[in-house]
Amino acid sequence: MSTATSPAGPGLQIETRLFIGGEFVDAAQGGRIVVTNPHDNSTLAEVAEATAPDIDRAVAAARQAFPAWKKTAAADRGRLLLKLADAIEADAGYLEQLEALDTGHPIRDVRNLDVPRTAAAFRYFGGIADKVEGRIIPVDAGFLNYVKREPIGVVGAIVPWNFPLLFCSWKMGPALAAGNTMVMKPAEITPLSALRMAALAARVGFPPGVVNILPGYGHVAGQYLAEHRGVGKIAFTGSTAVGRKIVQASAGNLKRVQLELGGKGANIVFDDAPIEAAVNGSAFAIFHNQGQACIAGSRLLLHEAIADQFLDRFLALARSITVGNPLDPATEMGPLTSAGHRDRVLSYVEVAKEQGGRILIGGTPPSDPALREGCYVEPTVVEARSADRVCQEEVFGPFVTVTRFKDEAEALEIANSTIYGLGGGLWTKSLTRAHRFADEMHTGMVWINSYKRVHPGSPFGGVGESGYGREMGFDAMHEYTDSKSVWINVDATIPPFYKR
Ligand code: NAP
Ligand code: MG
Repeated sequence: MSTATSPAGPGLQIETRLFIGGEFVDAAQGGRIVVTNPHDNSTLAEVAEATAPDIDRAVAAARQAFPAWKKTAAADRGRLLLKLADAIEADAGYLEQLEALDTGHPIRDVRNLDVPRTAAAFRYFGGIADKVEGRIIPVDAGFLNYVKREPIGVVGAIVPWNFPLLFCSWKMGPALAAGNTMVMKPAEITPLSALRMAALAARVGFPPGVVNILPGYGHVAGQYLAEHRGVGKIAFTGSTAVGRKIVQASAGNLKRVQLELGGKGANIVFDDAPIEAAVNGSAFAIFHNQGQACIAGSRLLLHEAIADQFLDRFLALARSITVGNPLDPATEMGPLTSAGHRDRVLSYVEVAKEQGGRILIGGTPPSDPALREGCYVEPTVVEARSADRVCQEEVFGPFVTVTRFKDEAEALEIANSTIYGLGGGLWTKSLTRAHRFADEMHTGMVWINSYKRVHPGSPFGGVGESGYGREMGFDAMHEYTDSKSVWINVDATIPPFYKR
């Protein structure tokens, strides 16, 4: 273990090794990855870098653990997930600090959202483990045909840096509940909470090899895992560009692939919207987590009749957001999670201007000298046309475009104009319009008079180039299992096919 000191108080013990076969071990080739605090770019820890031999070892451990884990009673698998949920809650004080330091999420949000939602997801999948039932199909007389759900085998999970703790639970919960074993690669820039999760999993008694967690670089460890012939499925959350690479890498053994990719959510405000709620919800939709959310409402579409009054209030609210050190409980928006990503987000300010976009507020780092060393960007609002790059490409920061529309048809056309189809929403008092848009928005999720709601029981995922497959709920249990159809001849009098 290495020790890192945090400005919040005493040092945190941080686990920095790979978790393989129930043990923390050093990396075979000895590489290290520097992990930084985006508040000031100071070094938090150096973690072991997994490469091919480590992935081979982890896959072998997961394959070895699979038969016994598959045979473990579903209720017992569930009980371990429930224990893990309890362990996360007991560890909340530590996890909050660690996640805030590593990602820059405001401690307020980690405390109220990331940690409780992680525990809730494990609890949900702990409860569902023994509720996935098979079916009996009414086939020809004399035969019993039943269909059971079977785990796939070893699941390789590759997750991004925007919700590192939460995404552990979204992948581990259903994969383990269904009886699979796992090899998970967290994002190289935010591996710390996943390693803590490994320690908690060991503590509550998951058998060695059932969960393996290996930080490493995407193009090295991630690519190798995606290609691995010993892996039965890759569950991937990340960018659309890397999602395509995963599909190609999967072709060798035709492993199953589940893809949760990028988004460019349309958040549509009609002239009959409840304005106060819409202003508040629209700000949450884009500024929560510094806009680093695949389901962010990053395109604000405003009916021309209310656009000016909506914007007055929305801009005032955005200006009032407290940007600061994530460890300060008063902070409402922290830094972006890495310097490279901050630069990418800021580069879109120039992209917007080149195409005639108007920066209404923000577009720069904050002027506060205390934040100068960090990866901060002010809440940024840009008025732009729907065809502009900033309205089509995922910026993934506290950066929202505003586009005006004149009627429903135009709003729908704009909403459905990107390659993505993850989430979208609308604010209106009209029930019929709400249902019409719920039907016609080309997305996996629709929010009406709210935005960005998620729940472990509700299917989460996208259409189009936002990927395929669904996390959460019974849908997820189907994603992590194959159906097996079993035929039994129950009638001894059935004549043989060849009469001799
Ligand atoms: P990313 O670059 O695609 O990385 C995601 C993960 O893939 C990381 O662990 C990364 O490792 C790994 N990776 C990179 N190259 C790889 C390769 N060739 N083979 C295998 N794995 C590879 O995405 P990101 O920038 O971290 O995350 C932001 C993106 O995630 C956004 O597009 C966002 O919309 C999307 N996202 C989607 C959802 C959803 O549920 N739909 C949720 C959250 C985020 P390294 O970090 O080590 O490179
Ligand atoms: Mg970090």
